[in-house]
Amino acid sequence: MMGGMSPFVTDEPHSLGSGWISGTIGASLGIAAAALCVCVAFPDWFATPFAREHAPAGTRALLVAALGVAAALGLFSLCLRRKKTLGMVALAAAATGAIALAFARSARVESSPGASVELPWLALDVFALNLVLYAAVFVPVERLRPRLSQPTFRVEWWTDLAWFASSALLVQVTAVLVPAPGLALAAALPKVAEFARALPLVVQFALVVLCADLVQYWVHRACHRVPFLWRFHAVHHSAEAMDWLAGSRLHLVDALLTRALVFAAIAVLGFDLRAVAAYLVFVGAQATFVHCNTALRLSWLEPFLVTPRFHHWHHARELQDVNFAVHLPWLDRLFGTWSMPSGWPQGYGLAGGAKGWRGFWRQMVGPFVGRAS
Ligand SMILES: [Zn+2]
Ligand SMILES: [Zn+2]
Repeated sequence: MMGGMSPFVTDEPHSLGSGWISGTIGASLGIAAAALCVCVAFPDWFATPFAREHAPAGTRALLVAALGVAAALGLFSLCLRRKKTLGMVALAAAATGAIALAFARSARVESSPGASVELPWLALDVFALNLVLYAAVFVPVERLRPRLSQPTFRVEWWTDLAWFASSALLVQVTAVLVPAPGLALAAALPKVAEFARALPLVVQFALVVLCADLVQYWVHRACHRVPFLWRFHAVHHSAEAMDWLAGSRLHLVDALLTRALVFAAIAVLGFDLRAVAAYLVFVGAQATFVHCNTALRLSWLEPFLVTPRFHHWHHARELQDVNFAVHLPWLDRLFGTWSMPSGWPQGYGLAGGAKGWRGFWRQMVGPFVGRAS
C-alpha cells in the first residue's frame, strides 16, 4: 500500500483551472484540519502537553472554518477534474474532522485534570501543523522553479509521508532519548556553559550551527563507512525521487544517533535555549529545503550554505561519499569530501537499486535484519 504507483500520479494537467490546485490545497488542508480535530477530541492521546495548555479559545471555530474550506475546495476540484482522487480525499478528510469535532462536543482542548503521570501520546498536532507549514512553503517553491517535472504526489510519496508522520508522532520518545546523554554529560562539565552563555545570542546561534554540523558531518560520514550504521542510513539514500518530503525518509536509529550526538555537543557547550530553539527551526527548514525538487539558482550562496544542488549530489547514484555537511559546505572542502560537478545528478538512490527496500515497514525493519546494498 505504501509503495508502488501512487493513485495521485496522472497525466492530467496541473495548471490553473484543472482542479489540481484546489484539490491539492483542499486535500492537504482537510487532512491537517481533520488531524487537529482528532487532537481536540482526544487531547490526552494525540496532543502535545504544550498544545493542551496553550491552545487558543477559538481553536474549534477555526477548525470548523478550515473543514468548510477544505470541503468546498474538494467539491470544486471534483467538478473540474477527471481523476477524482484529490477531491474525494478532501471531502473524506473534512467528514472525518467533522465527526471527530462532534465527538469532542463536550470535551475541552486541555487535558483532564488530576493526571500526574505523563502517559504515552502521539503528537498528531505536530504532524498536522508541520505538514501544512512545510507544504505551504516548499510546494510552491517546487512548482515555481522545478528541477525535474514530477508530480507533487510522485511515486513513493506515501512511503515518505509515513516517515514524516512517524518522526512527528513520536516526538515524545525523541524528546526524552535525544537530550539524555547530552544532559548527563553537561551536568558533569558545568564550567564550559558559563562561557558560551555569556556570548551574544546571534554569535551563540552561529556557534550552535557550526558545532552541530561539525558533529553531524562526522556521524554522517561514519554512517557511510561503518557497515552496521550504513544499513540504517541506506534507508535515507534509497529515495529515488527528491523533493521536500524525501528528506523525511530517515530511519529512527539514524535520526536518534545523529541528533543525540549533535545535542550532546550543544549541551556540553551550554548554549542559551533560545539559540538552540532558533537552530531547531533552522535545521528543520534547511534539511527540508536541500532535498527540494527545485532548480532555484543560488550560486552566490553555494560556498557558504548547503543548497539543494549540493545535497542532491550527496544523493547521486553515480557519485558516492561526498558532501556530508547539512549546513556548511566548506566543512567538506576542509575534510576532502567536497564535490560539485556542473549541473545535476543523472539519478538518485542506492548504487545497486533499492530492491526489497520499498515501503515504510520494509525500510523500518529491514536494517535490523540485513543490508540494502
Ligand atoms: Zn548520507
Ligand atoms: Zn538527504
